Amino acid sequence: MTSEPAAPNSTLPAVRLPERAAVVDLDAIRHNVGVVRKVAAPARVMAVVKADGYGHGAVQVARAALEAGASWLGVAHISEGLGLRAAGVDAPMLAWLHTPDSNFSAAVAAGIDLGCSGWELERIVAAAREQERPARVHLKIDTGLGRNGVTADRWESVVGEAVEYQDEGLLRVVGVFSHLAVADEPERPETDAQLDAFREAIAVAEDAGCDLEMRHIANSPAVFSRPDAHFDLVRAGISIYGLSPFIDQSSLDLGLRPAMTLRATLSQAKRVPAEQGVSYGLTYRTASPCTLALVPLGYADGVPRTSERGPVRVGGRTYPVAGRVAMDQVVVDLGPDADPELLVGAEAVLFGTGADGGPTADDWARATGTINYEIVTRISQRVPRIYLGEDL
Ligand SMILES: *Cc1c(COP(=O)(O)O)cnc(C)c1O
Repeated sequence: MTSEPAAPNSTLPAVRLPERAAVVDLDAIRHNVGVVRKVAAPARVMAVVKADGYGHGAVQVARAALEAGASWLGVAHISEGLGLRAAGVDAPMLAWLHTPDSNFSAAVAAGIDLGCSGWELERIVAAAREQERPARVHLKIDTGLGRNGVTADRWESVVGEAVEYQDEGLLRVVGVFSHLAVADEPERPETDAQLDAFREAIAVAEDAGCDLEMRHIANSPAVFSRPDAHFDLVRAGISIYGLSPFIDQSSLDLGLRPAMTLRATLSQAKRVPAEQGVSYGLTYRTASPCTLALVPLGYADGVPRTSERGPVRVGGRTYPVAGRVAMDQVVVDLGPDADPELLVGAEAVLFGTGADGGPTADDWARATGTINYEIVTRISQRVPRIYLGEDL
């Protein structure tokens, strides 16, 4: 038997929530896609839904993003794209991170466009032969990030090979793309150098006979800070989840709405005396007699153990976590005045929209020494995802 009365401090609609939940507001996703579309226009929008939609649920986010006018979906791995196809998502899709073990044949069969950093060409062509269907390829140039992509000195020869395969009808080079390294720091000059290198690579590909449908290099920070990087398509990840890619600008500053709220029902609330040690290592001791509340979310749920004094909202006020994050739980010191009787079944929010002055994924990122991307992406499968706004 579970009884979970709506908590008075709840900022969430009165839906029945499981005792632990990551509540994902698909209307927020739609809103954010709309914001990105507007900023990026006339460039189109690829919604990046890798890593299970940054922890939000790839299938649900993909559908919401497409409803809101995203033209493309982006994933890292072919396997992620196949998962979306299996769920019935048939929109244009690109996968860009492969190994020799990746299933290129399945990608070609499923109509998934393939990013290619050079070495994959042979395998992509083999897959096209096997499927008797030309592969759609986006050649990736490394313009300075130093991750995947063809290096500048090899670009001409890889383009040449690709065009030969194209002439044989085995593939079509439909795109050229790259990835930016420092677009979240708009003042840095390296982005200009990357854009110069990108334009050169495009010219080489077009001169060699590629009839490009799209050229794309912008991630979320470049959507907002570098209009000159938009080209034909922008690849937006973190922004469609409503989070800011910039350290000095909030979601609100960018007109974005954080889509995920991480919440739980309190497990216990009790009075303890002054000097009560809390959690492993007893690194925290209560200053006075007080009420401790137990929140059933821990590092197995994705709450970073390395966070320090991460914020938790209870009863309309925000408190820092007291002591260490354990596998299954964290403790919050509600101070001397909180009545434990009133807290049974109350709600604790670790992060959400921030609209009510409550904590955000940005706050948890600061408390952990990481970025908001990691905070939402690491929420584990033990936390059920609950969707708001699923029916249009
Ligand atoms: C993850 C990723 C993106 C999205 O980046 P955001 O900063 O989340 O918008 C875009 N392009 C590539 C190649 C990526 O790997």
